[in-house]
Amino acid sequence: MSMTKTPPLPEVFAEGSALRTRLLAERHAGRTVGLVPTMGALHDGHLSLVEAARRDCDVVVTTIFVNPTQFAPGEDYDRYPRDLERDRMLLAGSGCDWIFAPTTDAMYPSGSETTVDVGAIGQRLEGEFRPTHFRGVATVVLKLLNLAPADRVYFGQKDYQQTVVIRRMVADLNVPVEVAICPIVREPDGLAMSSRNAYLSDNERVQARSLSQGLELAKQMHAAGERQPNAYQAAITELLINAGAEPQYVALLEPGTVTAVDTVEGPTVLAIAAMVGKTRLIDNTTIG
Ligand code: AMP
Repeated sequence: MSMTKTPPLPEVFAEGSALRTRLLAERHAGRTVGLVPTMGALHDGHLSLVEAARRDCDVVVTTIFVNPTQFAPGEDYDRYPRDLERDRMLLAGSGCDWIFAPTTDAMYPSGSETTVDVGAIGQRLEGEFRPTHFRGVATVVLKLLNLAPADRVYFGQKDYQQTVVIRRMVADLNVPVEVAICPIVREPDGLAMSSRNAYLSDNERVQARSLSQGLELAKQMHAAGERQPNAYQAAITELLINAGAEPQYVALLEPGTVTAVDTVEGPTVLAIAAMVGKTRLIDNTTIG
């Protein structure tokens, strides 16, 4: 007879104060806490962060909160996919202990005013298209860390600029947490996993492959000796447009920063954003 056991469903906390009390008790007892902030609609990219936290920490908490302050009016906040019970099953399979799923009113009660100003980093690249995005991200991450005091907090390399912003905030505001960044998880054809991929029609799904194809092209160009950022930008922009995508930026950056490189000598982050139909997609890799 099969003895496979279904893993226990993670306990769901809606109240930050209850979660905080339990986590402080865990830490007081010497156990380490790993926190994985997400907006739900989980896929294997999210679950890879949970698995990393499971390997490193004694208690793993995933937050599921579609944060309104990181969406601009007209973006996809209202239609962003939400399915807590499905997410809970997936998290059970990845070894998550607890889920923090607060309501919007609990996170932003009326009268909330204070936000985190992330400075110039937040105005470049993504910030040119989403000027208030990183203020919303930094504010909610700081709030989540205050409610769920963790030893380590996990983010995906997929959102490259977000990793730069969060590392900066943690250093600048002396937030007592270690930031861990996990590699991008991709579909078999190269498309970076994203909750937003669910918006893509069959035709757009094919067009969306051009982002990761652009990154691959850059690796070939680097191997062939190309060192001029402009050459990469031109070739990738053309590839995206030919595929039917609408490039927003193709940037070559010093790793860990949003500073453009003059020449592609050492390791260089290549970050791309493009519209595919009405869906905004981002991807990145390191070349060199
Ligand atoms: P989100 O739910 O989109 O806010 O993402 C939550 C976290 O999962 C962020 O740290 C993302 O960078 C990370 N993430 C999203 N997609 C991927 C992916 N394909 N691979 C690795 N991490 C990812």
